[in-house]
Amino acid sequence: MNLHEYQGKELLNSFGVRIQRGIVADNHKKAVEAAKQLAEETGTGWWVVKAQIHAGGRGKGGGVKLAKSLAEVESISENIIGMMLVTPQTSEKGKKVHQVLIAEDVYYPGDSEPEEYYMSVLLNRATGKNMIMYSTEGGMDIETVAEETPHLIFTEEIDPLLGIQAFQARKIAFNLGLSGNALKEMTKFVTSLYTAFVKSDASLFEINPVLKTSDDKILAVDSKVTLDDNALFRHKDLAALRDLREENEIEVEANAAGLNYVDLDGNVGCMVNGAGLAMSTMDLIKQSGGEPANFLDVGGTADAKRVETAFRIILKDDNVKAILVNIFGGIVRCDRVAQGVIDAYKNMGDAIKVPIIVRLQGTNAIEAKQLIDDSGLAVISATEFQEAADKVQQVLA
Ligand code: GDP
Ligand code: MN
Repeated sequence: MNLHEYQGKELLNSFGVRIQRGIVADNHKKAVEAAKQLAEETGTGWWVVKAQIHAGGRGKGGGVKLAKSLAEVESISENIIGMMLVTPQTSEKGKKVHQVLIAEDVYYPGDSEPEEYYMSVLLNRATGKNMIMYSTEGGMDIETVAEETPHLIFTEEIDPLLGIQAFQARKIAFNLGLSGNALKEMTKFVTSLYTAFVKSDASLFEINPVLKTSDDKILAVDSKVTLDDNALFRHKDLAALRDLREENEIEVEANAAGLNYVDLDGNVGCMVNGAGLAMSTMDLIKQSGGEPANFLDVGGTADAKRVETAFRIILKDDNVKAILVNIFGGIVRCDRVAQGVIDAYKNMGDAIKVPIIVRLQGTNAIEAKQLIDDSGLAVISATEFQEAADKVQQVLA
């Protein structure tokens, strides 16, 4: 699960990480109120208006703008809220902006050289340790830095049992070229950031840029936080931060129904039991000249109710021109699945307008094929993998 920038910053702040302060607003009137309140609390006279969407590169897409007066806060917020923001990390359509963060301007006017750094905390699966990745080249795409100047990216591995050691935090500050008070500030920043990562069961914290002001304060100007879904049960407060508007609607519905579903761009829907079989079925669809419209693992119990839910979810995608059902009957008997498909089909009336190819293999596969063939429904049966692919190809042609 991903957090918005403003949520990530509040989380960081609760662990003692210094942040660029801000207040979130969902309309331009509230944005002005937020700006006034920030001015009182921080003394700022300039603000940045930042679109809150689950995607980076907002600056490049026009989703981060400096406002030098309350009137500008109002007009910029009015423009940004409701827009479809396109960034290098969104689709061509972009993402709808529902709210903006009004933040204090921390790049002091007249500050000739604000220093921007990059810093992230993540798990290094190869070593089984946490890792702090950091660079002097903040504020730009870390992918570009990795490609063009990889020697400017440093990593520090943290033993999860020992936690971050004082010498490691100092080393990071040194490598970033800091000294004096800025070094002390950075040491504290890194330590608090690492603690926040561990305590919130995150899988990624990325701060780009981390800013050093001319008076040697170190603060987080941006935040990208990904939490580990498997640990959310012990963070009810964090789970409540989930913004379903940012997620794929069909995926949210499928997950609520207990189906493992991922939306894809293709034209052939598929319903499979088992993730491995689902992967190979997607390969098969590609080989037969189609493109998978989704990944869908119905799991072990492919009964009529579950099959019906799966059909309904697959059919929400208008691009679907055919559906391939590929079930291996190991524990579940194929004839039961076939009956499930038939019942679901009948139950849905004329909601199914695309051809369905069903391949059932395993226990009672022959009885299952017979059931399908005798059903009188527009369902095409197949027993072999390739045969199923060929039939998909025929209906697409
Ligand atoms: P991203 O583009 O989605 O990564 O959004 P960021 O939060 O990183 O903001 C993009 C850029 O906006 C930053 O790299 C900064 O250069 C700029 N920016 C952010 N905060 C301020 C601010 O307080 N004042 C000024 N002048 N620029 C800012
Ligand atoms: Mn950023």
